Amino acid sequence: MLVGFRSSGPEKETLLAARNKLAITGGRVIDPAQGIDRIADVLISDGVIEEVTDRSNGKAPEDYEQIDASGLIVTPGFVDLHTHLREPGQEWKETIATGTRAAAQGGFTTICAMPNTDPVQDTASVIDDVMRRAVADGVVRVLPIGAISVGQKGKLLAPMGELADAGVIGFSDDGNPVTDANLMRQALAYSVDLGLPIINHAEDRQIGAGGVMNAGPVATRLGLAGLAPEAETTMVARDLQLAGLTGARLHIPHISTVGSITALRSAKERGIDVTAEVTPHHLTLTDDWVYGQKGEVPERVGPESYDTNTKVNPPLRSRANVDAVVEALRDGLIDIVATDHAPHAATDKVCTYDEAAHGINVLETAFSSVFSLVDSGKISLGRLIESLTAGPAAILGREFGTLKKGFAADVTLIDPGRKWTVNPEAFASKSVNSPLAGVELTGRVVTTIYQGGTVFDLRANA
Ligand SMILES: [Zn+2]
Repeated sequence: MLVGFRSSGPEKETLLAARNKLAITGGRVIDPAQGIDRIADVLISDGVIEEVTDRSNGKAPEDYEQIDASGLIVTPGFVDLHTHLREPGQEWKETIATGTRAAAQGGFTTICAMPNTDPVQDTASVIDDVMRRAVADGVVRVLPIGAISVGQKGKLLAPMGELADAGVIGFSDDGNPVTDANLMRQALAYSVDLGLPIINHAEDRQIGAGGVMNAGPVATRLGLAGLAPEAETTMVARDLQLAGLTGARLHIPHISTVGSITALRSAKERGIDVTAEVTPHHLTLTDDWVYGQKGEVPERVGPESYDTNTKVNPPLRSRANVDAVVEALRDGLIDIVATDHAPHAATDKVCTYDEAAHGINVLETAFSSVFSLVDSGKISLGRLIESLTAGPAAILGREFGTLKKGFAADVTLIDPGRKWTVNPEAFASKSVNSPLAGVELTGRVVTTIYQGGTVFDLRANA
């Protein structure tokens, strides 16, 4: 059985690829997979990368359409390992059409769709349906993730072999943790032969019982039930032990605590096959954001103090935890950035904090918000780009996330100096649940090219 190259995957999509010749000239090309960081030109032909070259010297060769990228950063298209697309079943929140357009606006050309749809992506027929819809309605590549358990109920293993044959890139019950340790052990054991990672939403619901935000002084002041960081840390520690026992590949989603990072470091040192992701919000927002004052601590707490758009699982953490995940990403201990894009309708967020749904709308702000860490010198630009391109592509074992010759021409152009104010009403996403509404960010994706075709372009109205 072929793992990693599925007949129903990217090959079909190439039918949609542009057949043009395109030269992206004069930009700062950063391709961590090839160790490239220099001013160069990227030549594209028939939807694939022809070469990264200095020879054309900023001028498009004859017959090439030219994109002048001087002053811009040119990178491989971003890859998101953790996206909630909501289709099928919750199309009022997001569809494959709107979610993939939101991805394109954020510079992502590959997104991995979490299986907590309705129906759950726990059979080959649902996976086939999602992949068909993605090709018909999507503007970027969608790779499905299969459920670990039937209906994501945590009782019976989903037909993992069948899901692997259908083309899933890993397994997750995300939204729900796999509480039963023996079921988790079995899932890990089966995944070894399939060569695919298990991605467990790490949360001990018994420790976390009833918590709606990070436990700590902010929760106390707001009178909200706190969710202790240990709810995540203990589950991460358990999963790492089980990964060691089975020899399986574990991918830890949205890591957010000092304790999880300590456990991750120790596991990597022991040779456990583990990777981890962190979200833009856990890298940049503390639990002070729950006050609804964009991270400022108000003198008085009132009804306006509860920003339901900050409610997310795992919750926004304290400064010590935020600093720890930034450092771990910088050092490569945390492998990648993934969005956990979780669109929700207004009715899920215009309510009390207790009642609000978990999740943040992330795709269109992801790069700009994390780029603030580059601006403040906390992480290098090369490392950030790696964590959005070569890093996730390596976890997937797929041939993208780089500008190597012959690879799909997925390219993202960034204007590092461009300032913009987040306006969720202008999102391509169907939902507006972003705590960054009204925040000014610097550095923005301005053009996204998928398989040689432009799927997002802001340069025209620059
Ligand atoms: Zn999750």
